[in-house]
Formats: sequence, structure tokens, C-alpha cells
Amino acid sequence: QGASPAPPVRHPRLTVLSGPSGVGKSTVVAHLRTVHPEVWLSVSATTRRPRPGEEHGVQYFFVDDDEFDKLVANGELLEWAEFAGHRYGTPRRAVLDKLAAGEPVLLEIDLQGARLVQQSMPEARLVFLAPPSWDELVRRLTGRGTESAEVIEERLTVARVELAAESEFDETLVNTSVEDVARELLSLMEIA
Ligand code: 5GP
Repeated sequence: QGASPAPPVRHPRLTVLSGPSGVGKSTVVAHLRTVHPEVWLSVSATTRRPRPGEEHGVQYFFVDDDEFDKLVANGELLEWAEFAGHRYGTPRRAVLDKLAAGEPVLLEIDLQGARLVQQSMPEARLVFLAPPSWDELVRRLTGRGTESAEVIEERLTVARVELAAESEFDETLVNTSVEDVARELLSLMEIA
């Protein structure tokens, strides 16, 4: 009659990478996938138009408002949020299938979405990607060159508020180098 063994440490398979717009989330994820292409990343649906070089089904599923309405109405989204005038949502089925198969899942979503996932799936690990400094974030948001001044201003306003949300997250990674952050993220996901 010995003591029962310690319960196994719970390894959350669902990792949510979030943070202010322009902090470099998608760059980190893109780099991570060049190093570890087997890491599965959820592809979101969005009503925003593709940027040059973006492809349907790769960066996003680009849908119109009616199609997005249907996804919402049919309960096909795990979470969705409006960001800078467009809607973005995570298709539910693919995520749940991967998790059911025991595979790691990575979501790269905005802060509102991260909070929704935290509520519905509390076992998820929430990772906040922080800019090295405010000036650096402004430089990155301004330097992308794909958005109008109005859109950039709107995103900066959102980013100012979003920076304060860091304390709600399980982990913070500071984006000083894409390679370092990708490595840290893989390590958190227990992939490498
Ligand atoms: P962008 O238009 O720059 O690709 O993305 C704008 C914001 O939407 C980013 O913060 C990105 O992480 C977020 N985003 C992308 N997909 C989703 C999603 O499925 N759900 C939520 N809530 N945010 C998303």
C-alpha cells in the first residue's frame, strides 16, 4: 500500500499565440513552420481582402460577409472577433480533430480571440508576444507599407490597449529575434 504515483503533468496541446497587431506574430509563425513544417497551424477565415502574395487556404480562407455569417450561424467557428473593420475566426472542426488525435495545435489570433479560447478551453496555453519596445512596434506597423494611414492609426490605438493585456497570459515572449522566439515557442509546445 504505497503512495499513489504523482499524476502526470498535464501537457496542453493547444497553444494560442497572441499580441498586438504588428508585433510579428505571423512572421514568427511563418519562420517556425519553415523550421518545423510538421507543426499544424489553424488557418482562419477572414472577411478582409488578401494582401499581395496571400493565397486562399494558406494564410487565410478569404470569405465574404455572407459566408462568414453562415460560419457563425452554423457554429463552425471556435471563436471569432472583429479586428480593424474585418472579421476573423478559427474553424472549429479542424482544431478539435487535431487535438483529439493528440497533435499539437497552434492558433495565431488577436487578443479578443485568445480570451474567448481561454474561456472555452481553459487548458489552452496562452502566449503573449510582446514588442521589444513601443517605438519598435510603431516602426513595424508603419513599415509594412500595405495599409493606409487610417488603418495604421486604428491598429496603433488597438495595440496601445492590447499591450496592457500581457498579465492575462500564461507566458510572455519578447520578439527581439524571430529565430529566438520561434525556438522558445517550439520549446513551450514541447516540439523541440
Ligand atoms: P491581419 O489582418 O494582420 O492578418 O490580422 C489581424 C489580426 O487578426 C492579427 O492580430 C491576427 O492575429 C488576428 N487573427 C487572425 N486570425 C484570427 C482568428 O481566427 N481569430 C481572431 N480572433 N483573430 C485572428
